[in-house]
Amino acid sequence: MPHPATLTSNGPTIAEVDLNAFQENVRTLKGFIENSRFMAVIKTNAYGHGVVPVGRAAVRAGADCLGVTMVEEGAQLRASGIDVPIHILSSIMSWQAADAVAYDLTSSVSSLDLTNALSREAVRQEKNHPVHLKIDTGLHRFGIQPEEAIEFCRDVYDLPGLDWEGIYTHFSSADEGKWVRTEEQFALFMETIAKLNAHGYDFPIRHAGASTITIERKDMHLDMVRPGVALFGYPPEHRQENMISLKPVMSLKSRLLHVHELPPNTPVGYGGSYVTSDNEKIAVVPIGHGDGYHRALSNNGEMLVGGRRAPIIGEVSLDQTLIDVTAVPDVRAGDEVVLMGNQEADSISARDVSDWMGSIVDEVLAGLKERVERIYK
Ligand SMILES: *Cc1c(COP(=O)(O)O)cnc(C)c1O
Repeated sequence: MPHPATLTSNGPTIAEVDLNAFQENVRTLKGFIENSRFMAVIKTNAYGHGVVPVGRAAVRAGADCLGVTMVEEGAQLRASGIDVPIHILSSIMSWQAADAVAYDLTSSVSSLDLTNALSREAVRQEKNHPVHLKIDTGLHRFGIQPEEAIEFCRDVYDLPGLDWEGIYTHFSSADEGKWVRTEEQFALFMETIAKLNAHGYDFPIRHAGASTITIERKDMHLDMVRPGVALFGYPPEHRQENMISLKPVMSLKSRLLHVHELPPNTPVGYGGSYVTSDNEKIAVVPIGHGDGYHRALSNNGEMLVGGRRAPIIGEVSLDQTLIDVTAVPDVRAGDEVVLMGNQEADSISARDVSDWMGSIVDEVLAGLKERVERIYK
């Protein structure tokens, strides 16, 4: 007998992505800007939500352009028919210049090698390739040092095939609310632009701010803002929760694979790090650190079953996590489990999960592996 070409059923663990909530978040964030452009940053597979469906939704909701960090993501978006500007917010290898030009992406430049390669490719492909000069004001990841900006422009500004459309920087400590440091970086950025302008090097679109700046600092919006994580329903920091009302976009759900009762003093899971103190009902949830459900949640975190909180017990393993469902009436295999999202009157947010892990929302959302099926609403 030949095997069937496709499966006839799906597994129980799914991530629901609410594109209406996403679009509402785009509109809410756009309400914070006045005359600036709006880049929807959808890098890292749209923080785990799926770069193509989210990219389409962003454009429909009024984003002027999209931001990614990989040429591959830009190519995927182009292949799906998206025609707004797509910025690569990272340096890339020089050998990727041909693809960046061919897919009409907008490149970040801060090295001679890459800038030369982009110019050569643009000429070869008979295109005018848009570039944004990246200035390093203190994050020290990549970018031209402010004192070297003029010399750099002297070398590359007149290269053929390049359109010097913009200039930008990325702050190191805005989320942490270190405003003195951020204001110093902003001042350095503005000073660098003024010097470049004085030498005849112009950059029409100046931009610096991500989610935090979009929400908290209108004075730093300049010509464009670049929010990322906030689009997905979470301002970067707790303090911003009463400054803006956003809707979580992703819910993470599964079903109980198995429920059993254990007597008191039974070690549970790898290493027996949890020991029952009474007769306890233990359930198996088919998700683990192989799905991006972090080991830091071992004996530390909760899920919702039957509208009640069920604590995670024992070590999170590659494919399974155990929870204590003793307090859930009539619990049985097949019951819905909510790991993020609403169930009856209660809800668990990606922020709760990140707090349990001692991490940030970005890691919880973007860390969810591809094998967890995304269902779009
Ligand atoms: C990731 C990133 C953003 C978006 O940051 P959020 O804090 O998620 O809003 C903006 N700009 C650059 C350069 C980035 O790398």
